[in-house]
Amino acid sequence: MPPLSHGPAGRSEGRAERPVAVNPFYGEADPTAGMTDAPPRHRLPDGPLAPMTAYQLVHDELMLDGNARLNLATFVTTWMEPQADVLLAECRDKNMIDKDEYPRTAELERRCVAMLADLWHAPDPRSAVGCSTTGSSEACMLAGMALKRRWAKRNADRYPARDARPNLVMGINVQVCWEKFCDYWEVEARQVPMEGDRFHLDPAAAAELCDENTIGVVGILGSTFDGSYEPVADLCAALDALQEKTGLDIPVHVDGASGGMVAPFLDPDLVWDFRLPRVASINTSGHKYGLVYPGVGWALWRDADALPEDLVFRVNYLGGDMPTFALNFSRPGAQVVAQYYSFLRLGREGYRAVQQASRDVARGLAERIEALGDFRLLTRGDELPVFAVTTAPDVRAYDVFDVSRRLREHGWLVPAYTFPAHRQDLAVLRVVCRNGFSADLAQLLLDDLERLLPQLRGQAHPQIRDRDEATPFHH
Ligand SMILES: *Cc1c(COP(=O)(O)O)cnc(C)c1O
Repeated sequence: MPPLSHGPAGRSEGRAERPVAVNPFYGEADPTAGMTDAPPRHRLPDGPLAPMTAYQLVHDELMLDGNARLNLATFVTTWMEPQADVLLAECRDKNMIDKDEYPRTAELERRCVAMLADLWHAPDPRSAVGCSTTGSSEACMLAGMALKRRWAKRNADRYPARDARPNLVMGINVQVCWEKFCDYWEVEARQVPMEGDRFHLDPAAAAELCDENTIGVVGILGSTFDGSYEPVADLCAALDALQEKTGLDIPVHVDGASGGMVAPFLDPDLVWDFRLPRVASINTSGHKYGLVYPGVGWALWRDADALPEDLVFRVNYLGGDMPTFALNFSRPGAQVVAQYYSFLRLGREGYRAVQQASRDVARGLAERIEALGDFRLLTRGDELPVFAVTTAPDVRAYDVFDVSRRLREHGWLVPAYTFPAHRQDLAVLRVVCRNGFSADLAQLLLDDLERLLPQLRGQAHPQIRDRDEATPFHH
């Protein structure tokens, strides 16, 4: 594991440390003087540098990062309009927690929550409660904490005194934030494995894992593994049947990190949200299909009952008090402003058009990759604009890890990874199509893939033996 602290890392360890390399031009007036200021790499420099020199050093190092627009691994927004850039710059000094100092930013956050509550059919959008977060991970932590607290209150006779152990039921395909939640908050993660060609949660299997210590069940819209929507309505029906049989009333949280901002626009008839009475809370990532640069997520509860009051803290807001529920105290306000900009700028029709364009690109690219003959699609990009593809059974000369590596030589970042328990035999490539990945870029990707195929087919065998080495990829 790489060091979490920023001590001397990796290759430089144990050797005399080489300072950051400088260029004669850094001494603007006197190039020879520019060569003396070589700052150390892992220790705070003794003295200052000229701002232009510092900028150039940082800028040059970052050139070796991948190109975000060609990163088909990420769900996160990699392009916004210049007007959004201006707003982000105008607000970068605002702290979201300072509701009293920045009341208008606080108001925009409230409007965003109200818009999402309406979009997700909260029974009474005005009484739905919610907040912005740094992303879906924080939103999921908050939602999980609310589930745990509600369960603890209902079971005060058994927990914590009699040591009942709370559990959360989910598919094995959950995003890593749910494993973190369970670990950090001491909840047992009960995971439904994959089975055959089912790569996400099965409602009956989930209901079977529930007992009196189940704080909730997580349904995912959609899965990061393959872009498929989990059957949230069927999950709720299975839990309704469970309640009828056993009396257990188990709430559902929908992890709509991506789909929460796709389904309402492209699949309005799909019932997955607060229309289902069992759905207690929903999260989404504003920075995924919410179309904002990284740093914003949302958590909403269907009504005040779903969010125990004792988890909510009160901060001063224009002399009154404003409830807040968050892990961080300070947090950038700019991202929330950018979210409001996107909502205002696009409206329902705009979001529909943007997401439809991404889905069209995903479906078109998936079909054309299938038509190459070497690949088998696991999903087709018709739920999230995301698809997973593996090599056809008769392809022996190369595998998805080879494809990922060779595409990288052309600048494309397409992750390859193996599936979890029960389908570890299956290795896939995943392509996430986002706003900004146009049909033209998709065609360029396809052209590159087609050009590589003769070489890949000519290999004696797959080139990468150690798969864990091949892709240190985490969902
Ligand atoms: C991305 C994702 C998360 C984590 O969200 P962040 O915004 O990256 O913190 C959680 N769940 C699912 C289903 C996701 O796709």
